[in-house]
Amino acid sequence: MKVVTAAPIGHSMGDEQMVTYSVSSKYVLCKAKLPAVIKKAFRTWEAAIPTHFKELEPDTPAYIEVAFKSGDHKDYRPFDRYKFVAHGIQINHIHFNYQLPWSINKPGEPYDYSTNDLYTYALFAIGAMLGVAESDDPKSIMYPKREAPMDFDGNYIETILSPKDITAVQRLYGPPDPMTFTVYAEKNQMGKNKPFPFYNDNSCYEFKGFYGNVSSIYPNNHCIELFENSYCEGKKVMIKPGCTDGSCCNPKTFEKCKFDKLAMSYRACQSTCINVLIWNSVVIVVLIVGFLLIGIVFPWLLEILKLIVEKFKRKHYGMI
Ligand SMILES: [Zn+2]
Repeated sequence: MKVVTAAPIGHSMGDEQMVTYSVSSKYVLCKAKLPAVIKKAFRTWEAAIPTHFKELEPDTPAYIEVAFKSGDHKDYRPFDRYKFVAHGIQINHIHFNYQLPWSINKPGEPYDYSTNDLYTYALFAIGAMLGVAESDDPKSIMYPKREAPMDFDGNYIETILSPKDITAVQRLYGPPDPMTFTVYAEKNQMGKNKPFPFYNDNSCYEFKGFYGNVSSIYPNNHCIELFENSYCEGKKVMIKPGCTDGSCCNPKTFEKCKFDKLAMSYRACQSTCINVLIWNSVVIVVLIVGFLLIGIVFPWLLEILKLIVEKFKRKHYGMI
């Protein structure tokens, strides 16, 4: 199966922190699930580079257009009914061939190899759009003649980026920025560890490659909720920046929460915790104000009261 790639674009998007995209609703296949698949493919690439992709409403003008196209669609890369599956062009177009059969698949479920897996080709097209060149490594997403993403039993295997893909895109854009956090297999941020991308949205993300192995975390100043099950379900623990007491769980150990090694998924939370430093400051201010009241204001009020009583007494005796 032949696919078209774009010429490398170098660092032309490297200075952009946030790049917008929107999905065209024209000729859309797999309409209900398409945005989620495209979003996931963007997330996979952006985990490797400092650029972030933001989804806008369908058909909204955006930096990158994601669309199904048919035949000659005026970008000098015409599709036909048999060959070209998808392409990504010069930083702002991701196109899928409308005339070909597409499918969205779940790992482990039977894969119909007469269809094209949308996630696989979204990964490929985004790679091409970013300027990652074709590869001769069969494991690379940029390999021109990919095998169908299935195992020997005919079940779907989700496509991943190869180490060479990550090296290639980082050669163009550099490594990701500090929007990550790290999880550790042992408490006190020790043992086997793995960084994960942090997205400040309401979506749920999986601890892929680290399931059930999280005993402590370096949150990198992010507020993160950890969940015992996939899809952010089941018991959870919340890690808030600055909190080291039991009330919001110490990132170095979850023992008080009985949560060690359970975490399967995570998502961002809003930090509302007052950290220990602020609490200490509040206590000091209250003590200072208290001493001032007891030492200066109360004696002064007492003197005033005494004067008023004396004045009242004199007035009272004067009346007799
Ligand atoms: Zn096109």
